[in-house]
Amino acid sequence: MAQNDSATSVNVGEVYMVRRNDGSWHPAEVLHTRFNDTENLFEYYVHYKGCDRRLDQWVPTDRIKNSRFDISEKKYEQKDMNKNKDLLNQSDSRITRSQNRSLNEINHVPMSNAEMDPITPAFEKEHEAITKIKYINKVQLGIFEIDTWYFSPFPEEYQKESKIWICEYCLKYSKLEKTFRYHMSQCTWRQPPGVEVYHKGKLSIWEVDSSQYKLYCQNLCLVAKLFIDHKTLFFDVEPFLFYILCKIDSFGAHLVGYFSKEKDSPDCHNVSCILTMPPFQKQGYGKLLIAFSYELSKLEGLVAGPESPLSDLGKVSYRSYWSRTLLEILKNDCESLSLKDLSAMTSITQMDIISTLQSMNIVKYWKNEYVICVSHKMVEQLISSEQYKPPTYILDRNAIKWTPKRYNLRSGSSMHPGS
Ligand SMILES: [Zn+2]
Repeated sequence: MAQNDSATSVNVGEVYMVRRNDGSWHPAEVLHTRFNDTENLFEYYVHYKGCDRRLDQWVPTDRIKNSRFDISEKKYEQKDMNKNKDLLNQSDSRITRSQNRSLNEINHVPMSNAEMDPITPAFEKEHEAITKIKYINKVQLGIFEIDTWYFSPFPEEYQKESKIWICEYCLKYSKLEKTFRYHMSQCTWRQPPGVEVYHKGKLSIWEVDSSQYKLYCQNLCLVAKLFIDHKTLFFDVEPFLFYILCKIDSFGAHLVGYFSKEKDSPDCHNVSCILTMPPFQKQGYGKLLIAFSYELSKLEGLVAGPESPLSDLGKVSYRSYWSRTLLEILKNDCESLSLKDLSAMTSITQMDIISTLQSMNIVKYWKNEYVICVSHKMVEQLISSEQYKPPTYILDRNAIKWTPKRYNLRSGSSMHPGS
């Protein structure tokens, strides 16, 4: 076994300077260790202090700086680490608790459990304990090899794999490339199951009823969890419908993103969980899914919104969709419409409308109510600015083939795969 001598000097639970993918050095806690059979070396699972846990990763020993490594090597040091210079210059780069505390202050680490309210810590602690180690680093989905962000509860025997292979059509997963290749030669699926409810150009959306296609929906939740942090995943997917956005070419319908929606939502949520697959992010697909979710609410005659909490990426997409939608209406009439009117026209809740108008500074609180306060000229200025530019993909309402249904749900089946 070709174990690197220095591996033995890296201890789980301690903080070291670790080289990130971009070459910079950052203090990181070592959470776990494993032997990588493929590479024939030891790896360490590290959490970069003060950073989102999606950046946690497995690194080999040569990316961990301790006294056995050449700490005079300067080529990876970057100017943003100058503030931590005094720590870097020590002969042994292990960091004491008090030094760690000062680093946390520098890096704006979130509140400790003791500083949170009494309910949050228990939940956070449990969530962190379960999801601390992300074993699966990469997934192959269609032509894309994708770096994963978070832990996902795949079955035990898959948890020790650094990469898993997924059929992009039926979402069946394999540990081995060989098994995956064989599956691809046999799999007859070329699109999601269920009913195509939207088709425009090369984009289609399928509605998948989880009680008919349970395994597909469970697999979708497992794959999605690799990219969503706070998502309480249950295997009882039955109370949900899944809307799958695909890009179509001569090979088939390729998974771009999806959202789940409760069949019956007492809290008027039109989206439980929403995700654009990483290779398709920041290209306007998220906003197309959001627009579609509101079109469904309009057809149902409901005012609705996404289930909270939204992720940081989700918040940006929703705020952008809400702003543009409201500005489009105010462009034609900014004088006579009330918040109630806007809500009825868009199916967006009054609360989401108020927060959006506040962010654009065009609403005032006057005599116990919110009043829209904007001139035609201001709307024109806002709507032509880069910040509120039109979406890349405009949803065509006429291309939707969908009517609301009523579902008979089992009693007590209110658990959900949403965030
Ligand atoms: Zn398949």
